[in-house]
Amino acid sequence: MTTPLNIPAKQAHLWLVGAGPGDPELLTLKGARAIEQADLVLYDSLVHQDVLDLAPARAAKICVGKRAGQTSTPQALIHDWIEKGARQGLRIVRLKGGDPMVFGRAGEELAFADKLGLPWTYVPGISSGTSLAGLSGIPLTLRGVASSAWLGTATGQDGRLTEDLLQALRTSSTLVVFMGRRRLREIANHLIHLGKGDMPVAVVSEGSLPQQRTVVRTAREWAVSTDLDRVADPALLVLGEVVNHRLSTHTTPLRSIAPTFSHEYQVPHLPQAGKPHVQRLRRV
Ligand code: SAH
Repeated sequence: MTTPLNIPAKQAHLWLVGAGPGDPELLTLKGARAIEQADLVLYDSLVHQDVLDLAPARAAKICVGKRAGQTSTPQALIHDWIEKGARQGLRIVRLKGGDPMVFGRAGEELAFADKLGLPWTYVPGISSGTSLAGLSGIPLTLRGVASSAWLGTATGQDGRLTEDLLQALRTSSTLVVFMGRRRLREIANHLIHLGKGDMPVAVVSEGSLPQQRTVVRTAREWAVSTDLDRVADPALLVLGEVVNHRLSTHTTPLRSIAPTFSHEYQVPHLPQAGKPHVQRLRRV
């Protein structure tokens, strides 16, 4: 049973911050400001070191995340850290990959904060689900091709492909599948069964990072592919006709193409020019 805080915790606060899909420059300014004033940072494994480096040197940084296939930190332990921090009046930042509200178990942590009487702020992040198709040159929706995009996970609590996914495979929607790499062969076989063996499926791994890789094949090809196991994690699946409309991508980093702009750019609402993220933006 959680006892509510008896507010000596005058500044105790929880920021639930989305770190974006991987590239540290895809963090929001609001997220950067929250991290800069943190006393305690509880972060997931996919969060980039440059994002963690925004935290003050005095801040405690604790990794509470997991990588696919490895054991996760039990949710109860994360709650314990939040409670300990809150009782010491700390400013706690809970940093999650992508957007915390998209397959991030954010609801559980915020409900726990509510139970404690710990005030919280949600700072959205760019989800891999909405950004990685585009970063591979694939529009999620396209006039006349796909008028909707479905975001979902492959596996239900019973360990099988979710009923929602099986229904969505019948539609002309673009499908973005989280945590689906290991189920791709099964998904491909379903598509073949539905007469959609020619459906293109993109697998985007380590999206938004310099080592991002996008492999496109038809469902029929994925069904017999042997190199699926060599696709690095994390990986996201994008299925649908839009994949056939993939544009070529230009991966030139922004910082190498805008040297003059960087000298004049002022970040609005940021009081101190010496802050690391301001310097970082100046380098852009
Ligand atoms: N909250 C996150 C999703 C967490 S679930 C978000 O909004 O992006 C974790 C899954 O997200 C991974 O298994 C993978 O399917 C996908 N994912 C997250 N980051 C990714 C990346 N950089 N590249 C490819 N897939 C990614």
